[in-house]
Amino acid sequence: MDIAKKAGVEGQSEAAVDREVQKNVILTRVEHVLNWGRKNSIWPVTFGLACCAIEMMATGTARYDLARFGYEVFRPSPRQADLMIVAGTITKKMQPQIERIYQQMPEPKWVMAMGTCAINGGLFANSYSVVPGADLFLPVDVYVPGCPPRPEALIYGFLQLKELIADPTKAKARAGADAGK
Ligand code: SF4
Repeated sequence: MDIAKKAGVEGQSEAAVDREVQKNVILTRVEHVLNWGRKNSIWPVTFGLACCAIEMMATGTARYDLARFGYEVFRPSPRQADLMIVAGTITKKMQPQIERIYQQMPEPKWVMAMGTCAINGGLFANSYSVVPGADLFLPVDVYVPGCPPRPEALIYGFLQLKELIADPTKAKARAGADAGK
């Protein structure tokens, strides 16, 4: 069958055909569609290190309703997760275990450093047993400051990550501009 007939635009003017095309055809990039899905269904790995993890757990409760963003499915296996929230103090004893969990997560994956301990060691930065920052061994995408950060702050971190996943180049450019302020 003729394509114009099939589309119901047979015999119509060019302008009418254009209007039909604009109403019914979407052009996009595969990467854009994949990132749209990824940014709206982040699955964090169930994993916590210290007091910040309590706030992370609170973020998953009904009061804060993380489900409205599509992020509430905390996975018990790293193989099903795409986000690691480093929530708490990183001891040197735990560092190899954290690295192993990260390596078990499939690509693409992201990392959030939650709380001052995960960002730079916090209160324990000069301790003999604490790693002063997750970025020393993990590629951190988003930092959520505070001791501990409130669930609202973690949700804001999620939304920043969402922007980064949607358009990594735009997010990096904005981070550079913020740093230059
Ligand atoms: S940042 Fe504060 S609340 Fe979070 S793990 Fe460190 S001491 Fe605990």
